[in-house]
Amino acid sequence: MRAALATVQLAALTQNLARARTLAPKARVMAIVKADGYGHGLERVARALSAADAFGVACIEDAERLRGLGMLHRIVLLAGFDEPADLRLVRSLKLDCVLHDPSQLQILQRERGAPIRVWLKFDTGMHRLGFPIEQAAALCSQLREMPSVAPDLHVMSHFASADAPTRTSTEQQMALCLRHAQGLEAGISLANSAALLAFPQSHQQWVRPGGILYGLSSFPGRTGPDLGFVPAMTLSSKLIAIKQLQAGDAVGYGGSFIAPQAMRIGIAAIGYGDGYPRHAASGTPVLVDGQRCGTVGRVSMDLLAIDLTAAPRAQAGSSVVLWGPKLPAELVADAADTISYELTCGVTRRVRFAEI
Ligand SMILES: *Cc1c(COP(=O)(O)O)cnc(C)c1O
Repeated sequence: MRAALATVQLAALTQNLARARTLAPKARVMAIVKADGYGHGLERVARALSAADAFGVACIEDAERLRGLGMLHRIVLLAGFDEPADLRLVRSLKLDCVLHDPSQLQILQRERGAPIRVWLKFDTGMHRLGFPIEQAAALCSQLREMPSVAPDLHVMSHFASADAPTRTSTEQQMALCLRHAQGLEAGISLANSAALLAFPQSHQQWVRPGGILYGLSSFPGRTGPDLGFVPAMTLSSKLIAIKQLQAGDAVGYGGSFIAPQAMRIGIAAIGYGDGYPRHAASGTPVLVDGQRCGTVGRVSMDLLAIDLTAAPRAQAGSSVVLWGPKLPAELVADAADTISYELTCGVTRRVRFAEI
């Protein structure tokens, strides 16, 4: 059996949610579980996060999976529906819908049947999804007149740079939203993980953390553990071969790494076919038998070469940890020019999953 294994620690998820609540004590928590729970497995993540007040998903299929578990939580479709045919499932699954585009309003206007709970999404500066914030008051009154819309409206917006060291753009987005949402008698939701941590004023009625629940950080130069969260996923494998190199020997495709002196390397059964990033440069940290080592040469589809200088007793069968609580995924992401979210989302289907 292939040794590549993703182990999800359920207690970490539960503990991270509890910490998010402590940091935003007055807000309700919509746990964001899109992309299969950031790659951790939607069902196991939802069970571990069942203390959340709602779940946020990106597609109806994910909402169906949650209802299939018997979850009675509010489930919010973060981009709503895009065809009239979607509304049958929206109703039967009792889903909340984000509305962000006039095309969705047109669909709702033609609808008859039980009212649908709506979160109106406004663009306050990210220029991705959302109605212009200046339309907040008018849209709220329009929706309150529509029989297909439930009366308890929510207003939301999303920050472009809440994890950036410069705070101005987030402060501007927040001020704009709060000014226009005032007096609308709608619940307000602004904060992703970064804003939950860095902008307490953004908490309002609902916070929407994703990354921190999995123990991940989107702040440059800071890991999940730096922020007090526990990484929920450990990606591990084993060494399947040991090699003795002489000075000048080139390693792997393209020979991009050349041994500066005689050295021992180990070959681990993990590669980009498992979701380990191919762009990880030589020197990317890995743990071999718990010792911090570095990769050498290019990442292959199935294999990864590791400098064993720091783990002289390692042999075939030694454990290799690619990321986890003792090696935050942010350190690997930095070496591969990406973010930790992409790493956990990218673990492929051939990797076995286990939960503890
Ligand atoms: C993904 C997402 C979030 C969560 O973002 P994190 O950085 O993972 O906390 C919140 N809100 C919306 C609308 C999202 O799409």
